[in-house]
Amino acid sequence: MKLVRFEAGQWGVLEGETIHETDGPAGNPTGRHFDLGGVTLLAPATPTKIVCVGRNYLDHIKEMGHDAQELPKEPGLFLKGLNTLAHPANPARPDHSGDVVPYPSFTNLLHYEGELAVVIERRMRNVPEAEALDYVLGYTCALDVTARDKQKTDLQWVRAKSADKFCPLGPWLVTSLDPQNTVLRTYVNGELRQEAHTSQMIFSVAQILSYISGFMTLEPGDVVLTGTPEGVGELKRGDHVEVAIEGIGDLHTRIGH
Ligand code: MG
Repeated sequence: MKLVRFEAGQWGVLEGETIHETDGPAGNPTGRHFDLGGVTLLAPATPTKIVCVGRNYLDHIKEMGHDAQELPKEPGLFLKGLNTLAHPANPARPDHSGDVVPYPSFTNLLHYEGELAVVIERRMRNVPEAEALDYVLGYTCALDVTARDKQKTDLQWVRAKSADKFCPLGPWLVTSLDPQNTVLRTYVNGELRQEAHTSQMIFSVAQILSYISGFMTLEPGDVVLTGTPEGVGELKRGDHVEVAIEGIGDLHTRIGH
């Protein structure tokens, strides 16, 4: 099932090109219907926090110059501010490009990181790995926009990871997906830059969620980014980025000037 958030913040189930409005993210039908091509899509989550995993694919650890012999013993986490959420383009509406990510003046090295994102359905606290996926509302595509130069020089990653619109999310949630059995690709201006099977994650989605829930209560709507594979690289002003995950869809994002 595909869940969309649209227009004034209402939710719906997407079937073909028709949205069947519901009274919540996994709610009951309201009886109202909308054409996908006639609405504005919103980021499909209303989180209290965005929790992100760094270094979750071995080949990405290597490309960042870290020692691949020393695999992380536990997920390395950081947060992105809620100001980073950016709305997706609507694939059924070519005139609607979604939010543009402003290219901040404080950086000279903006990078893309395509990632699988998870949205939480139910409050999650101290949940064992075997039950963790039962708490997931759905899966979607995320672009973890990163000011790589500031990530290396700032004490904390606040500027590097949390400038406005640094987390495009969407275009919708898919509720039934095996998160360790899909393929993630990132394209910049139509050129393939990242391609990885999610079975290559060092920590599975279930392990990540269980780990986080052991010290931080995950609330309904919270977003977890599961790390980026090899192939990260530079974004220029005006670039078009596409994060495509098999079984979900494509998240299109434009970088500002
Ligand atoms: Mg990342």
